[in-house]
Amino acid sequence: MKERIEKALENVILLDKKNIIESGFVKKIDLLSNKIIIYLSLSNPAMHFKNKLIKDITDSIKNQNILDTICIKIEMKSDIKPVIKNIIAVASGKGGVGKSTISANIAVSLVKMGFHVGLLDADIYGPSIPLMFNIEEEDINTRIHKNGMINPIISYGVKILSIGFFSKYGQAIVWRGPMVTKVLRQFIHETDWGELDFLIVDLPPGTGDIHLSLLQEISLKGIVIVSTSQKVALSDVNRSVGMFRIQSISVPILGIIENMSYVLTKESKEKCYFFGKNGVKNFSKKMNLFFLGEIPMLQEIREYSDLGIPGVLENENIKNIFLKITKNIINQLSMK
Ligand code: ADP
Repeated sequence: MKERIEKALENVILLDKKNIIESGFVKKIDLLSNKIIIYLSLSNPAMHFKNKLIKDITDSIKNQNILDTICIKIEMKSDIKPVIKNIIAVASGKGGVGKSTISANIAVSLVKMGFHVGLLDADIYGPSIPLMFNIEEEDINTRIHKNGMINPIISYGVKILSIGFFSKYGQAIVWRGPMVTKVLRQFIHETDWGELDFLIVDLPPGTGDIHLSLLQEISLKGIVIVSTSQKVALSDVNRSVGMFRIQSISVPILGIIENMSYVLTKESKEKCYFFGKNGVKNFSKKMNLFFLGEIPMLQEIREYSDLGIPGVLENENIKNIFLKITKNIINQLSMK
């Protein structure tokens, strides 16, 4: 009987295309006289995820004609201790639109506001957070405890872990999806983050397996989207919004940021709308997304990034731009 139930559970497929037996979610199956109890250990306590899983399990067992009158009881046990209050992911359709720069400056703005903040760089295609925080020389191996827990690196008050710590400078990361998921899982659940008010996750651009596994793995409070006003950037953002709004995922999108809105040249005070004017603003209206704010293309933002210092720490103008956007994110979070 137990084998038949296990076979039935193999038909319950998760977003990363693995079944729940393979994923290791099923901890125990107890057969009582009139009841089957399936113990699941889940790290994603999101309600929509639980409900869908319960329905899929129930359907799959019923489809196998294992049960007529027997009732199924599913117990959920969450793995994560509630030490991280808000996990927020920063996403973009395309690479190079400023997602990491913005993640870094928002994280430091939150620290300046008095919050405990972590930053997880999950951008496997271009993990640039170590450079932006001047910690690319750090050796992650010295930070892994005997019990396997990782100690994040602290820079400018932000606790940081980056997938980039696992590749030497200039080396490509050629990991397969399951390996990335495993490392990210470890970054979230087996890291000594301590108490955090916010964990900012810098996602890879686009839509892919990593996004799906992450969304399944962690309970996100919301997504912040970054784009320029360029048509090709927005068309990719459209796909990302579609993914986050799929019913089985349905993570709240807190809003969208327009980066590199315009350039102010030294010679003239006239704004040059390099990527097009108000593209993101108009897109946000069309897609019913909250407009979190605009960031001009400033030479200083790029320069501080390259120096390994988040600009909000050094420049009043940059500080005010990001403070406004960070406050908008907190407001949206409280409304969701
Ligand atoms: P992504 O994470 O989307 O790939 P990055 O944050 O790495 O993008 O930014 C790409 C490049 O653009 C970097 O060199 C960064 O310094 C620069 N950049 C990002 N935003 C701005 C801005 N508002 N003004 C000037 N340079 C910027």
